[in-house]
Amino acid sequence: MSDILDIQFNDEEGRSGGNGRLDKVPNECPQCHEKISPIKWGGFFNRKNEDSDKTLEVVFRCPNNDCHEIFIGYYSKRSDRNDFYLRNTEPKTYSERLFSNTIKGLSVDFPRIFNQSLAAENAGLDQVCGAGYRKALEFLAKDYLLKQVKEDEEQEKIKSEPLATCIKNRIKDPSIKEVAKRAAWLGNDETHYLRKWDQKDLQDLKKLIDLTVHWMEAEALTAQLLQDMPNKE
Ligand SMILES: [Zn+2]
Repeated sequence: MSDILDIQFNDEEGRSGGNGRLDKVPNECPQCHEKISPIKWGGFFNRKNEDSDKTLEVVFRCPNNDCHEIFIGYYSKRSDRNDFYLRNTEPKTYSERLFSNTIKGLSVDFPRIFNQSLAAENAGLDQVCGAGYRKALEFLAKDYLLKQVKEDEEQEKIKSEPLATCIKNRIKDPSIKEVAKRAAWLGNDETHYLRKWDQKDLQDLKKLIDLTVHWMEAEALTAQLLQDMPNKE
């Protein structure tokens, strides 16, 4: 019985293109996102992509009973021998992120911009989705602040101020301020030519946005609870 990592592939004319060796098979289905040992069907060599991340396309099937979808593993070739390295799996599905009513009440635009950025990230548009997350954060922070002031003049100032200034001078809650400040630093890195935080990446930016969301929810819930249960001492 042949090893799952051995691959026999066809060339562009459908003839046997040779034998090779995969470094690994995908361990997660890009459709149902379950951990899997996929069923391997066949490999297709594409000479015009010889120097790309799509030299070899391997067809897999998800063994999960609730899924059984077909997907493609894209492999690159790194040596003169037919050694192939897994680069990506397609097509990917993803679920939109659901936000609480508290967050939707704070900002109508934030969930929409966040999910468009998530769609870009899942489409492999890693050079632009960061700027989208940065924009989502700006809408969240500014809409949060706009809820706290009534005067038109003050609202206009918030709208036009740079995000970092807004966070520094206007957010009172220390947890929200510190987390949002760091999210803004990383967010700026996503839009500028030079990165200041080159050890931090998109996933760190998303974690900081998650934390900002978390602290804003906690603040709103605490305020609601104190209102519902006033001090009776
Ligand atoms: Zn699956």
